[in-house]
Amino acid sequence: MADHSTPPSPRTTAAVEDYLERISELIRRKGYARVVDIAAELKISQASVTTMVQRLDAEGLVKYEKYRGMVLTGAGEEVAQRIAHRHELLTHFLRHLGLDESVIARDVEGMEHHVSTETFAALEKLNRYLEEHPEVTRQMKDRP
Ligand code: MN
Repeated sequence: MADHSTPPSPRTTAAVEDYLERISELIRRKGYARVVDIAAELKISQASVTTMVQRLDAEGLVKYEKYRGMVLTGAGEEVAQRIAHRHELLTHFLRHLGLDESVIARDVEGMEHHVSTETFAALEKLNRYLEEHPEVTRQMKDRP
């Protein structure tokens, strides 16, 4: 019998996930995403971006037309939303621990890709608990 306990999610690398997140953000902000914009945001060459975008197209995550830019497919949008959600939740969670914003920003960039579904679900639960019990965060601050 098939296992339906975990939702299907395409296997993607951190680099692929970051591209999809950037593309999704650009489209939301500007209405479109072009290779030149992504290259500027990620501070890498347009040639590298084109290679990656062609790969995303081949994997069915992006629909790329050379002179018209690109749109995310349903699968691509799903990955982008998942990473955006993880990014937000992990940022909130680490703030409860009283960490500097610069540390949080750096760590979340990695964690958002590498934390398992199980651990992420547990952190979501713990984050909710900390939201409901601000005294815990205050007590944490006074600890050595
Ligand atoms: Mn990242």
